[in-house]
Amino acid sequence: MRSPRVVVVGNGMVSHHFLERLYQAGGMAHYQVTVIGDEPHPAYDRIHLSSGFTNRADEQSSNPLALTTARTYADWGVALCCGVRVREIDRQQRCVRLADGRAIEYDHLILATGARAIVPQVPGHDLPGCYAFRTMADMEAIRQAVAHANHVVVIGGGLLGLELAGALHELGVSICVLQRGPSLMPAQLDPQAAALVKSSIEVPGFEVRTSAATSSITLRDGGGLIVHVGDCDIATDMVIFSTGVQPCDELGRGAGLKVSPRGGIAIDEHSRTSDPDIFAVGDCAAFNDVSYGLVAPGYAMARTVVSQLMGQPTAFIGGDTSTRLKLRGIEVATVGSIKQPATDCDAITLTDAANGVYKRVVVDRASRAVLGAVMVGESEGYDELLQLYRDGARIDGSPARLLLSDQYCGPSVPLCQTMSSDALICSCHAVTAGQVRNCAAAGLNDVASVATATSASTGCGSCKRLLERYLSSLGEQGADAGYHPRRVAG
Ligand SMILES: Cc1cc2nc3c(=O)[nH]c(=O)nc-3n(C[C@H](O)[C@H](O)[C@H](O)COP(=O)(O)OP(=O)(O)OC[C@H]3O[C@@H](n4cnc5c(N)ncnc54)[C@H](O)[C@@H]3O)c2cc1C
Repeated sequence: MRSPRVVVVGNGMVSHHFLERLYQAGGMAHYQVTVIGDEPHPAYDRIHLSSGFTNRADEQSSNPLALTTARTYADWGVALCCGVRVREIDRQQRCVRLADGRAIEYDHLILATGARAIVPQVPGHDLPGCYAFRTMADMEAIRQAVAHANHVVVIGGGLLGLELAGALHELGVSICVLQRGPSLMPAQLDPQAAALVKSSIEVPGFEVRTSAATSSITLRDGGGLIVHVGDCDIATDMVIFSTGVQPCDELGRGAGLKVSPRGGIAIDEHSRTSDPDIFAVGDCAAFNDVSYGLVAPGYAMARTVVSQLMGQPTAFIGGDTSTRLKLRGIEVATVGSIKQPATDCDAITLTDAANGVYKRVVVDRASRAVLGAVMVGESEGYDELLQLYRDGARIDGSPARLLLSDQYCGPSVPLCQTMSSDALICSCHAVTAGQVRNCAAAGLNDVASVATATSASTGCGSCKRLLERYLSSLGEQGADAGYHPRRVAG
């Protein structure tokens, strides 16, 4: 009897995580697996694309961002079709039709088609010198153009736009970030935090303009571009759009699958679409009308599908959008969301203007659970806050204590005593403190060894410091140090 056929459309980060987890679960013995991706190479680390701007020539040919190779997939028994687009899903015939004329039949279809960069349709958006930034091909085109540029305008002051602007500034290019709204990173920060980020990252050669809506882009006499913003003209060599992403849901739409009003193929808690034989995972999917656009929720959806296929179903219960990054040397970290109805919660804010620190934590008034937090300028205590948020733990007493780091009130309790075995250290790969503790007990005491053994910190990378701190606290306290459930003093 032939094995059921699993066909995966898209070979991005989430598709690869799905294949890796299916392989690890022994799924290749039960399924005949095919993956089809329209980029010319197998899955790569999209999150760290900006690092490609500074790659040495030898690294450019070896592709340090690759997550896998055609050879690895062949060894796993996965048939890989690269550089070819799936044109449509034929649900009657249960097959996908490829742009090169082939049809590939499926029993289970997994849509992992990701998202594309939104380019605002202002006049001139498609002139030579204007770029979007989503793929390896985009990165390569920008890298080559930047080599001849002195000035770049980045349109979009969200997380990705600022990160991109920072990476280009490091190459010695002058930057102007244009943000249409009144403050930076509006999805993550409140106006005070955003104002502090703006004043902290601006230096000569790195300019940020808010409430700056681009009306058009035109060619400049003698070469380059002019970006028109209100009554002001900005002369530049290049424009890069970083104005958000839009789920690639057209295959689902074309096949009559249910699509969220805001875009994204609608999925249930098992990552199933409105057709029970078709799953959607990652940036192309919408759960409860939310398309996350982040890797950790996508990975969780992929693991949910593996669990269905392997007969041990688990559910996807929603994604964690917490982020932590360093913007031009400034710590910016968020937990959950601080945008909560004021009537239902208590908020505590710490402002230390002299040291450029702003922190705010929001706690549910009834359950006393952390709903969200933001930290700018200093993020000590972030790991503990994130843990409390993920555990939904009750905060006894004032949440102010959560904002006051060693800098304000002396050393805190070692991390290995405050994290339970089930507490997640790496949410991308679902690696717990217990697993890291086991690694340490087996002599794996550094981040690299634990990353190799468990994949912890190899997703978005934002847990690397937590992993480092956890391992070092185990080093100080011993791998058998006890866990002491936290009581936050009032
Ligand atoms: C510069 C940058 C920085 C980022 N930083 C972070 C970060 O710090 N943290 C974080 O969590 N997330 C970050 N993200 C977002 C993260 O990269 C995405 O959430 C993640 O890549 C989603 O994976 P995916 O597999 O769903 O989609 P993708 O990685 O986009 O892969 C989808 C693949 O499917 C292919 N495809 C689409 N349609 C078809 C078709 N019809 N036929 C065949 N193939 C098709 C696409 O070409 C693509 O190769 C960042 C993204 C960028 C661009």
